[in-house]
Amino acid sequence: MNEKRFRYAVYIVIVILILLFYTKDLDLFGKNFYKNIKMIDHPDAIMVLVNKTYQLDDHYVPSDLETISISYAYENKQLRREAKDAFENLSQEALSLGFRIVATSAYRDYDYQKKLFEEYVSDKGEVYALECSAKPGHSEHQTGLAVDVSGSNDDYDEFESSPEFPWMKENAHRYGFILRYPKGKERITGFKYEPWHYRYVGTEVAKIIYDEGLTLEEYYDKYL
Ligand SMILES: [Zn+2]
Repeated sequence: MNEKRFRYAVYIVIVILILLFYTKDLDLFGKNFYKNIKMIDHPDAIMVLVNKTYQLDDHYVPSDLETISISYAYENKQLRREAKDAFENLSQEALSLGFRIVATSAYRDYDYQKKLFEEYVSDKGEVYALECSAKPGHSEHQTGLAVDVSGSNDDYDEFESSPEFPWMKENAHRYGFILRYPKGKERITGFKYEPWHYRYVGTEVAKIIYDEGLTLEEYYDKYL
């Protein structure tokens, strides 16, 4: 190896070392999910962050759950009062424009989530379960601020291909809801793209998140 080539090789090694140093804390492969778990201090805050790092107590139940009107939800679906009012207003406006947006799942308690996650694991295996279902205590549905919706094709899993989806995507924020698990942000949220899952954060924050194309995690990093 001549001296020029040797120097070139040394430069490459240095560049690789620098890259490794700066990326070692970035969770490039999602390996930090469910690591260094922290218990949530203020579960009643409207802005509460629940994900694969921040966990709710197994006894946490919101104190102001209310049942969503059967006109806009499957039977006996509950959200916290503020989110429920906002969701009913959203669905009402949608309906006035010919769109049918219905809550198929809303508040879910710890035990229900535990059962759901275990069913996913036994049906589809743990790898798949981890991608599309939350472990108990790590589901936003336990906050009473998250809602899964279906459109006029009556299948939440096919919500993206319903005529309601484009409207929901562009208007949910006006009622304080955000698309919580967007496409291309799986490494940040820890969940696969879920066009049907919306989270209430209030209109002010929802507008910023919508305008800037953020996830709730990115909003926390940038503003809180
Ligand atoms: Zn959901």
